Amino acid sequence: MARCNPFGYATDAGPKHLMGGLYGPEYAGKMTINRDGVHGVAVCEEPASGRFGLVCPAGHAGPVMPLCQRHAGMIMARMAATCTACVWPPEAIALNDAIDAISGQISRTWDLVAAGRLRDRAADLGRQMDELIGRGVIARRPLRLVEIS
Ligand SMILES: [Zn+2]
Ligand SMILES: [Zn+2]
Repeated sequence: MARCNPFGYATDAGPKHLMGGLYGPEYAGKMTINRDGVHGVAVCEEPASGRFGLVCPAGHAGPVMPLCQRHAGMIMARMAATCTACVWPPEAIALNDAIDAISGQISRTWDLVAAGRLRDRAADLGRQMDELIGRGVIARRPLRLVEIS
């Protein structure tokens, strides 16, 4: 059995799966290295006791991780929160990007009429985002840690 490898930090692939790939490795800094320079909670010296994966009711599955008992318990208790893929479907990411782009344009324009139009557009996109939640396209579904044989 491999060494415990929570979140895949010890592999060459890196922590690209953090938050469903939404955040890059820079967000993982606090978890991989403690302030004193010793590796943090995401790096473990224990041998793994099994292979585990996070799954959600909609069928999203995270990467399979070899985990020790302690990390399996820790992830089950604290980390297994909401499925990021369900909260951020492609439609939501596209809308979010569009809203970000418009916010950037608003901050750069001195034209009040144009800024007003951009704000209307942003509000409209915000309503579309609410609609995605209303239609259940954006959903909060809990992740479960399951052992994979
Ligand atoms: Zn561990
Ligand atoms: Zn999901």
